[in-house]
Amino acid sequence: MEYRYHLERGGLKYICPACHQTRFVRYVDTETGEHLSEDCGRCDREDSCGFHLRPSEYFRQTGTRPTAAARRKEPMPEPEPSFIDAETAGRSLTAYEQNNFALWLVRVFGEETAFQLVDAYHVGTSKHWPGACIFWQQDVTGKLRGGKIMLYNKETGRRVTEPFPHVQWVHKVLKIQPYHLRQCLFGEHLLVADRERAVGIVESEKTTVVAAGFMPEMLWLATAGKNNLKAERLDVLGGRNVTLFPDLGAFEKWEEIARGMPGVKVSDILERRASEADRAGGLDLADYLLR
Ligand SMILES: [Zn+2]
Repeated sequence: MEYRYHLERGGLKYICPACHQTRFVRYVDTETGEHLSEDCGRCDREDSCGFHLRPSEYFRQTGTRPTAAARRKEPMPEPEPSFIDAETAGRSLTAYEQNNFALWLVRVFGEETAFQLVDAYHVGTSKHWPGACIFWQQDVTGKLRGGKIMLYNKETGRRVTEPFPHVQWVHKVLKIQPYHLRQCLFGEHLLVADRERAVGIVESEKTTVVAAGFMPEMLWLATAGKNNLKAERLDVLGGRNVTLFPDLGAFEKWEEIARGMPGVKVSDILERRASEADRAGGLDLADYLLR
């Protein structure tokens, strides 16, 4: 079977059944020149997705030949998430004198609170760039879904975005392949030991840590990205009192997503208090609290 079918060369890319990006190379039947079923192929996002369904595997799973007309009855399951081992992550929880984000937290909150925050949220130190930190994403089962490496200015606490954005993933630096990055909420592991506090959700890891420092009466989590607010990612919050705090400009989008979720409120505190200058700058809750 493998000789008869090969990955299409130089053709169009299709939507990957695993990561939904238009980066999927489909298999072609050399005898007919036709594509095989639409989930037979390989995602070319090798670092972040790596989905690959061979014709032989398709045959093994379904018992039918993967012809173009073949359609699965069940939707494709998402690939199982990959994990970083705890030992690797543990080694990064040190050298905070070289961690710009931690140094900036000390300026804002003093040493004691800064270290409590860094400890609670598992913020690590990375050598990938001098001064870089790692925001580990540990899920409610204790497994590490990934580590996002970022660089901040130690005086201002602002992200270093010049000459490039300074965002990288630990699994890419370690060249772990294939790696199925399936993110969880940043800070999600804190839900396990703390079942009482109301939950506040913001967009960025930095805002989460800052909000936790200023408003410890709530348990703070982050979606860890602008487009990462997804209903299924909030399943772990089932039954809790949850408030979303969208950045300026994201209110409508987050409200729409929250509409279908019982018990989830969306705060418009930033929308109500923002000046024109704030809007232009895309103010977030951390900027507001730091004033
Ligand atoms: Zn993919």
